[in-house]
Amino acid sequence: MDHLSSSQINLYLLCGLKYRYQYIDKLPKPFRSSALAFGSAFHSSLSWLHKQRMSGATVSLGTFHKIFDADWYSQKAEANVKFKEGEQEMALVALGKELLTLYFREPHAKVNGTEVPFTIPLADPTTGEALDIDFTGFIDLVEDDGVITEFKTSAQALSVSDIESRIQLTAYSYVYEFLNRKKPKGLKVVNFIKSKKPRMANLITTRGTKDYVGFFFLAQEVLKGIRAGVFYPHPGYWCKDCEYANICPLWQGKNGGNGTGQKQPVNGEAKK
Ligand code: SF4
Repeated sequence: MDHLSSSQINLYLLCGLKYRYQYIDKLPKPFRSSALAFGSAFHSSLSWLHKQRMSGATVSLGTFHKIFDADWYSQKAEANVKFKEGEQEMALVALGKELLTLYFREPHAKVNGTEVPFTIPLADPTTGEALDIDFTGFIDLVEDDGVITEFKTSAQALSVSDIESRIQLTAYSYVYEFLNRKKPKGLKVVNFIKSKKPRMANLITTRGTKDYVGFFFLAQEVLKGIRAGVFYPHPGYWCKDCEYANICPLWQGKNGGNGTGQKQPVNGEAKK
């Protein structure tokens, strides 16, 4: 293990066993949930729009929609997309375009960077103690005035308390401060709500030294758990979208697994 990311931390905290299947055993995923495929296509389209805006190109809404069509097609070409019961693909794509239209028409600040990659040391700012591996990831969007933005699609609107505890935002703020030697002007979550009447909400928050200390401690403990081989299952509503449900000892044979009816190799085999 040579780096740690927010996604790894989040997955380990969600379910250690799923972390092991994905990152240690590197088991193939028999499907991708429609929510994950939708989120990936959506992010990819937003990133394209931001790159166009950075280059000063004029983009029409129709072209933006076509980019989303292409990104969605690419998701389906890459993976077997598993839809929820009663979910219609055409309706999902139409929903995506409605949400993208809302964002397209919103007044926007000048873009400084999109999908900005970073690799930095992660340290406790009060003691200087650092992890012995790099912290890596991507920042969704950095605006020219120093506001950092995360894009989040969700079935229900996020609340202020949801964003106060979001690890991703703490990481973004820490990274920005490390790279720029100053605090970001603001941290913003643009929440795309996939409700019957699609809507978009902006939520603003901040982070400070205490949050960075807490984040470092959390990352350090997660790293200890991974290195010690502590990968216990943590069942919850997320199991219904878990790509490894058909081999998970908690769910094997109980919920139809991945919906393909196929068993996967037993854990541990794939890493050899
Ligand atoms: S089915 Fe649930 S408990 Fe089992 S690995 Fe997946 S997320 Fe974890």
